[in-house]
Amino acid sequence: MKSDNHIYADGKLAVLYLRVSTEEQVDNFSLGTQEEICKKEAEKRGYQVIEIFREEGRSAKSITGRPVLIQLLEYCRKHKHAVQAVFVYRLDRVSRITADYLAIRKKLTENGVTILSATEPTGDSPTEKLVETILAGFAQLDNDIRSERSRNGLKARFLSGMVVTGQVPLGYAVQAGYAVKNTTNWDLMKKAWDLMATGTKSLQEMANLMNEWGLKEHRGNREFIIRAQRVDVLFRNKFYVGVITSKTYLEEVKGQHVPMITEEQYYRVQAIIDGRNPNKVALAKRNHNNPDFPLRRIVRCGVCGLGMTGGWSKGRNARYAYYRCGGVCKGIAAKSEILESSVVQTLKQITPKKECLDLFIAFLYRTYHERLSRLQKIKSSADQEIATLKALRKTLVEKNLAGVYSDEVYKEQNAVIEDRMTKAQVVKDDATIDKYNINDVTTFIRTLLADLGETYKRSNLSQIKVLLGSIFPSGLAWSQNGKLNHQISPIYQSICTFNNGAISSCAKGGS
Ligand SMILES: [Zn+2]
Repeated sequence: MKSDNHIYADGKLAVLYLRVSTEEQVDNFSLGTQEEICKKEAEKRGYQVIEIFREEGRSAKSITGRPVLIQLLEYCRKHKHAVQAVFVYRLDRVSRITADYLAIRKKLTENGVTILSATEPTGDSPTEKLVETILAGFAQLDNDIRSERSRNGLKARFLSGMVVTGQVPLGYAVQAGYAVKNTTNWDLMKKAWDLMATGTKSLQEMANLMNEWGLKEHRGNREFIIRAQRVDVLFRNKFYVGVITSKTYLEEVKGQHVPMITEEQYYRVQAIIDGRNPNKVALAKRNHNNPDFPLRRIVRCGVCGLGMTGGWSKGRNARYAYYRCGGVCKGIAAKSEILESSVVQTLKQITPKKECLDLFIAFLYRTYHERLSRLQKIKSSADQEIATLKALRKTLVEKNLAGVYSDEVYKEQNAVIEDRMTKAQVVKDDATIDKYNINDVTTFIRTLLADLGETYKRSNLSQIKVLLGSIFPSGLAWSQNGKLNHQISPIYQSICTFNNGAISSCAKGGS
């Protein structure tokens, strides 16, 4: 640590934060190169570097895994208003996750510290701040793509109709990842479905009978007798009609297993459990590709904060779809049409005006191209350096062969050239242009944001989850007085209030 004299010296003071993640090569050259470039940039902007924080070999995933970042935040807090800036090589050195990045920036700002990137345009003005947010957003996109890749394996498995969790309902067994008939209880379970479809047995009676027949449920290595509650779950399971559902993907796919019962029988039994007239099967059938409660778990109870669940409630003449608090205060409930139209209404209200969207997209292009050309410049100067070094080495070899340089001198000089070569190569790799297709990104953003209410209506279950999750990262809350409370994500807020530098409200109907 440097002496306090430095800290109270005149002029602007800065610290460096350097980081390589595990995914990158953990070699000192990379950190050394970052340091060199950051120092140069700091000098250029008139800062004196008083401390360097080096983070090695940790993943970029979260703040908690990075002790040095914590030290940096603490250092800035202790030297409040003495340190004015933290220089980083690239903003994604701070965090690949937008929310984390914004949280870190907030903490630093509180202590009068600005994050400055040595290779990207950053600064204090609202426009520059937005650039930071977008760049952090790019980093997150990159991060998402990475984790998407690892999730894809499981999802592909699910979409192909294979069993993902290894859990299959009574009557089936898992063999090499596939659900097959369980020869010991298949016939009994089928008999149970047939009996249930007659409508003459209550859930409790079914449970008693199934226990008498010797049917047992297995979870892990344990056996359970069947209770009425479980009978309800069993006869609700679409697995028996050959459909696989997933809580993770909120989708239904056709399974690769043999169905035990027909769809008609399934909906007849649903009607019986619901206490409806089983002749209304056709009605239920129409809905089955169109899940009834898309907002389940997305909207939370405004009183206790737990996710709301969907359900049907019997009226005098018809049944009503309701969302209800899934927690203790069962009091909070809303008709599903009301809740859903309230969501559409909210989305319409926060849809950015066309001018904002146009400006934002133009701006996105400009930022992207600025970033590209900056990286391109770094890359080509690294290329130049590599070419120079190659020429130098050629001369060295020639002079060594000609006897001008001794073997010793040759070895020594060659090692120096090798070092510089590695350094240049690292810089070049670091500046390699990201493979985002900016046209795809902007087209996607434009279609998505042009009318959020319509986007919502067009979306399937998993898209709704992503859409609402990205705009309202902390969810939506349904309050006791029937209002939908929400908090818009910072990055989305930036888009809505975008006005080419001058921040002003651009949201529709926000008056
Ligand atoms: Zn509640």
